[in-house]
Amino acid sequence: MLLRHTSDKEIERKALTINPAKTCQPIGAMYAALGIHGCLPHSHGSQGCCSYHRSALTRHFKEPVMASTSSFSEGSSVFGGSANLTAAIETIFSVYSPDIVAVHTTCLSETIGDDLTQIVSKAKEEGKIPDGKTVIFCNTPSYVGTHITGYSNQLSAFIKFFSTATPKKKNVVNLAAGWMEPSDMREIKRLAATMEARTILFPDMSDVLDCPLTGKFVMYPPGGTSLADMTATGDSKFTIGLGAYATEDACVKLENKCKVRFEVIEIPIGLKATDRFIVALSRHANLPIPDDITEERGRLVDLIADNSKYFYGKRVALFGDPDTLIPLTEFLLTLDMKPVYIVTGTPGKHFDESMKDLLNEKVPEAKFMSGERADMFRMHQWIKQEPVDLLIGNTYGKYIARDENIPFVRLGFPITDRPGHNFFPNVGYTGATNLTLKILHGLLEHKDRTCPEEKVEFQM
Ligand code: SF4
Repeated sequence: MLLRHTSDKEIERKALTINPAKTCQPIGAMYAALGIHGCLPHSHGSQGCCSYHRSALTRHFKEPVMASTSSFSEGSSVFGGSANLTAAIETIFSVYSPDIVAVHTTCLSETIGDDLTQIVSKAKEEGKIPDGKTVIFCNTPSYVGTHITGYSNQLSAFIKFFSTATPKKKNVVNLAAGWMEPSDMREIKRLAATMEARTILFPDMSDVLDCPLTGKFVMYPPGGTSLADMTATGDSKFTIGLGAYATEDACVKLENKCKVRFEVIEIPIGLKATDRFIVALSRHANLPIPDDITEERGRLVDLIADNSKYFYGKRVALFGDPDTLIPLTEFLLTLDMKPVYIVTGTPGKHFDESMKDLLNEKVPEAKFMSGERADMFRMHQWIKQEPVDLLIGNTYGKYIARDENIPFVRLGFPITDRPGHNFFPNVGYTGATNLTLKILHGLLEHKDRTCPEEKVEFQM
């Protein structure tokens, strides 16, 4: 009974969030910055913020996460962090030699009102940024938005500082990746390669946060979108944004800056969202869909059909990021399950509208909510009012799952108590197969454990 004080009675709350379904902006900016090769994220604020952001990512990915900090003291908190950032830039280039430093702000530097444009320009004028090296920056005040906002702001900064249009457009499709695991990015690249499409995926955390153990420390792992590719995104003929919350702003910026048209679709989680991704890539790359991909799809459909009796009508509660929850809700409906409670701490109309479109007819009793008041406490109260058969979300859901004795599928960020999530993709038909199996195993293991003895079946 870890959450023994949760009751089923909801009380109107205006200024209180309990167990938020989100985390803070700079974590998203730091994660996205790691997806550009040779880039060192820099946290402009106190050491505590940077330590928290690094440890949140390290605990999830089980990999060292490199980042630097302006190390605000009492003095910089009062008089501003300009001197700290300037000194940090000089030290970073002389000691750690990155190609790029990606500065993001924190609550403290935003409240002080540090002007990053002015500080970085002055550092450049004073010769503190070596030739051929770059300092980029974005604003990530954590008292608005969430880690997804921070991720989106960092992507927009990549476009602002790097994407360049030359007179010649290339037959390349940009793939702007929303918040996904490194394994998801690897899978997206595999699908594009199977189709023989020329693409630039940005950012790309594969081979950065899922590196093999070699016994040698590498400050800048081999993966990440190269600076040359990031610059060349301005010459591509089209951009597909994967996840509106994380990528739409960057897609708009790239169109305005370099005239690269775009389409934003969902992250390809589940059957239908993957169909849309494959069709969009085939259309914009002007290539046919290969048989290998069609066969992968067929095997997924077979798996779903074989096990439909276990999915049918099961009530599901899910929480996390909107770009994940929207296609996941659609996939649960494809499985004939009932997504009844859905919450995300990230605010935005797109989530509410998508949920209405998906659920109004098929699951009219469903409750969904986004923004600061859409917290896990509220979802737990809904579960107490009418139980569910399955819970899907990040590690923090385990307390609810344990208290209510519900099977629990870990998906999202952070997952700190189980390994493997960054090895097995959730996107594409392969990812949907993994997800289907996780859900199925969760349901069946719970059934084996809790059903009357005479109902325990040896064979499915
Ligand atoms: S919420 Fe603000 S103060 Fe807290 S860790 Fe995040 S950036 Fe730092």
